[in-house]
Parts: sequence; C-alpha cells; structure tokens
Amino acid sequence: MTLPSNLAQADTPPIRLLIHGGAGGMERGKLTAEREQAHTQVLTQSLAAGYAILKAGGSSTDAVIAAIAVMEDSLLFNAGKGAVFTHAGRIELDASIMDGATRMAGAVAAVTTIRNPIRAAHAVMTQSAHVMLIGEGADTFAAEQGLEIVDPSYFHTEFRWKQLQKAIAEDRMLRDHDADVDLNTPQSGKDEKRGTVGAVALDHHGNLAAGTSTGGFTNKRFGRVGDSPIIGAGTYADNRSVAVSATGTGEMFIRTAAAFNTAAQVRLLRTPIAEAADNALGEIAAIGGDGGLIVLDAKGQYTMRFNTKGMYRGAIGNDGIAWIGIYAGNEISQENSLK
Ligand code: ASP
Repeated sequence: MTLPSNLAQADTPPIRLLIHGGAGGMERGKLTAEREQAHTQVLTQSLAAGYAILKAGGSSTDAVIAAIAVMEDSLLFNAGKGAVFTHAGRIELDASIMDGATRMAGAVAAVTTIRNPIRAAHAVMTQSAHVMLIGEGADTFAAEQGLEIVDPSYFHTEFRWKQLQKAIAEDRMLRDHDADVDLNTPQSGKDEKRGTVGAVALDHHGNLAAGTSTGGFTNKRFGRVGDSPIIGAGTYADNRSVAVSATGTGEMFIRTAAAFNTAAQVRLLRTPIAEAADNALGEIAAIGGDGGLIVLDAKGQYTMRFNTKGMYRGAIGNDGIAWIGIYAGNEISQENSLK
C-alpha cells in the first residue's frame, strides 16, 4: 500500500538550510535586473551546495560550510574573495561555526591567507583544543591543517581598492551596506551594498549548525574584529533552541550578544523565534545599530528578520525548492527547483 503523499512527507525528518548574504539598504527598483539575477544565482548555488549534503544525509555542519564557501568564492559578497580592505590596505577576514548538538565552536579572526575562512573555523573546532585563533596563528594553523592557502593578493580587487580610497578620502568607515553606496556598478569604483555571509542548517539527525564569514567594514582599523567570529554575537547554535547567523553593525551585535540573546529567549522564555529575533534586533536598534538575523529551530521552523531595507537571503527544505529574497516584506523574488 502506498501512503498518501502528505503522510509520507510527515515521516520524513525535516531538513532545512537558510543563508544570508548581508543586510542593508537594498530597495526594490534600485538594483538592476542584472544585479538581482547575479545575486540570485550565487545564492541559489549556495543553497544547492548545502542542500546536496543535507539531502544525502550529511551533517548540518558540512552543509553550512558548503553553502558559505560558495559565497566566499564569489565576488558579490563581502567574505573571502570579495572582501573589503582595512584602512591599512589589507584584507582581514573573520569567520565562525558552531555545532548545535555538541555546542562545539570554532572561529578565526583577522586572517589574511586562507581562501575559505569558514573551513579554518571548522578546523579550529574539530582539530584544536581552542575556540578562536587569530591573525598569524590562525593562518599558520590553517596551513598545517592542509587548507587552501592563497597569497593575500588573491583577495585584492580593484573595485574594493577604490572603495577604500573613497572611504579614506571621506574619512569614514564604510559598512558594506551603507545606504549611499552604489548597488549596481561593482567595477566602477563606486561602493556596493554587499555583505557578510552566513548559513544555518538542520540535518536528517535533527542537529542544528550555524556559521558566518565576513571581511568586516571598508576602512576598518587593522586588527578590528566584528561580531561574525564571536560565538554568541554573530553565530550561535544549540539543538535545544535555535541556530542563528547575524549580519549588521558588528559592534552593536557584540554588545547585545545578539545570536545568544535570540537563542536564550527561545530556550528559557519559550519566545516564538520571530519575536525573539525582533527583540534582539530591537536591542541593537536601541543602541544605534541595525542588521538581520537568520534563525532556525530543530523542528525546521525558521525566520529571517532584518531592520534594514533588505537582506540577501535564501531558504530550502525537503522539497528542494530554493527560495530567494532580497527586499523587505519577505516577498519571494525567485524560486528554483533543485530537483
Ligand atoms: N557584521 C559584520 C561586521 O561587523 C558586517 C556585516 O554584517 O555587514 O564585521
């Protein structure tokens, strides 16, 4: 006897993957169709990479790494290859990952030679006794672990360099999503709203994981570390509550322990996940910050909240339909079946 499909579906443990590519001033009508398409394509590739792992019974941790690595290898996001420059004219990358089953975590900060910092964060989690390594120590560790090492020039792109010169001339630190940046002309030397990347996943075993990777802010002071590699600020995962990845004004996310704040509300107060995320973003707004959070629980329920105009984001579950959004209002800009 064949089961009605809804019952068959109910027997399948939920798998889910959410990603973000940064929150900021993206407004409908300001991005050209080509730019929307370019971002949608990379976000869809990122979902496909993570989904393939989850669908095959792989772990949420591996799905998070695969999804983030795709965005780190893209020029369109401020992480890995597309990262922004510090005031000193270097690229310093931050990343972290957390496993919700064990609450093991790994992070790297201010690394300069690791092609995929998310893989280095994972190596710190699984191959060291530590949670965070920084700078030269982290770069050396990644090389020892056999991760792909690149010359710092690999990260140098002309449009990011020009973006730095502009920020220096204006004597300000550019968040990648500042409202006055130009969204459509990455090669023109104007600034572009692109950002930090992150992913949260739920695997067939009911385990959650979260990860985040970034270049930080254009013209940041060298040595500055934001929320992305800080466990509890930019990333958190606990099977008892939720997996969270953040993007936004990092200093405020650190000061409010944004990712842990969200998870703690869900675990201790049983706050619904969207409300918990909004409360965390409200605390950030109250001290002058903004950004977004992607949040997923162990039942597969999720929310993607932001108090900016837009957030690059995507979601996929058991049905293999990729959902991509850019603007506010949670409207779907594109759906693609990966099956
Ligand atoms: N949160 C990141 C940082 O502060 C930046 C971003 O998400 O755009 O480094």
